[in-house]
This record gives sequence, structure tokens and C-alpha cells, in this order.
Amino acid sequence: MVRALYPGSFDPVTRGHLDLVHRARALFGSVTVAVARNSGKNPIFTVEERIELLQQELPDDVAVVGFSELVVEFCKREGFGVVLRGLRNVGDFEFEYQMALTNRHLRPEIETVFVMPSHAYSYVSSSLIKDVVRYGGDVSSFVTPRVEAAMRAKLARQG
Ligand code: ADP
Repeated sequence: MVRALYPGSFDPVTRGHLDLVHRARALFGSVTVAVARNSGKNPIFTVEERIELLQQELPDDVAVVGFSELVVEFCKREGFGVVLRGLRNVGDFEFEYQMALTNRHLRPEIETVFVMPSHAYSYVSSSLIKDVVRYGGDVSSFVTPRVEAAMRAKLARQG
């Protein structure tokens, strides 16, 4: 049984991320989502808040964890054989290619597997969604109602 780890920032989880997990559940024995604690992307949600939103949106058989080390070292220690990543468009490719080969150099036994989301989500990114919400736009096609409400509450508090 191959266990897959899906690492990322998930600030916040989008319908694209959910689509990817849904597809991956059909491919692997289990899928675990891992929220990076050391992502330098100026997040709006804390890691704990991101984990909670993911748990609320994902089926019960998908575990959600935080991590703060190299992805492949975490995989090795916790018994994951696959790093799952999403490939939305050619823009993702360059960076994902570098990261996959670097991870292979570090831990050759761990394979990176790319899955493409539905084309409806191929241009959806957490960072763009944050900008749209900040300026009052409708993001209901890109995130769930719960995530949209959490973003509005958070941004209202931040002023
Ligand atoms: P990171 O900071 O690692 O890029 P993200 O949360 O932005 O974290 O993305 C995590 C993973 O999910 C990456 O592999 C990314 O390509 C993928 N991803 C992001 N948005 C989407 C989407 N709309 N559809 C499918 N995969 C996505």
C-alpha cells in the first residue's frame, strides 16, 4: 500500500487542492495533507487554522498534519513513499521539476507524483484568491463557503 504525502502552504485550501486530494485517493492507499510550518509566504492563516480548515473540508480518511522539516525527511521518518504535488499549468512546471529532482537527490527512494486538477481549477491559486477577497470580489467558485467566510472574518479583523 503506497502512502502519499501532499505537502504545501494551503493558505487557504482551495477547490483545486480538494480536487487533487479527491483524485489522489483513487490512486494511493492513503493520502495525508501536510501543512508547511516554515513557508515564507506571508500567510493570513496560522498553521493551526489552515489544518482545521483542511480537516473540515476533507473526508475523514484523509489525515492533516503540520511539519517543519525537509519534506523527504518527513516522508522517510513517517513511512510515506510518494510526495504528491499538483501541476496546474506550464508555469508550475519549472519550479516543481527542480524541487522533484532535488528531493530525488536527497532521498532517491521517495517518488514525486504529479496530478493535474480539473481544468476549472487550473488557474486557481491561494495567493490570487486572497487578493480577490481583500478587494471584495466573489471567490465562491474557488473556495468552499466555509473557507470564504473564514477569509472574510480574518481580513476584516486585520483591517
Ligand atoms: P506551495 O507553497 O507548496 O506551493 P500551495 O498550497 O500553494 O503550496 O500548493 C500546494 C500544492 O498544491 C502544489 O503542488 C501546488 O502546485 C498544488 N496546487 C495549488 N493550487 C492548486 C490547484 N488549483 N489545483 C491543483 N493543485 C494545486
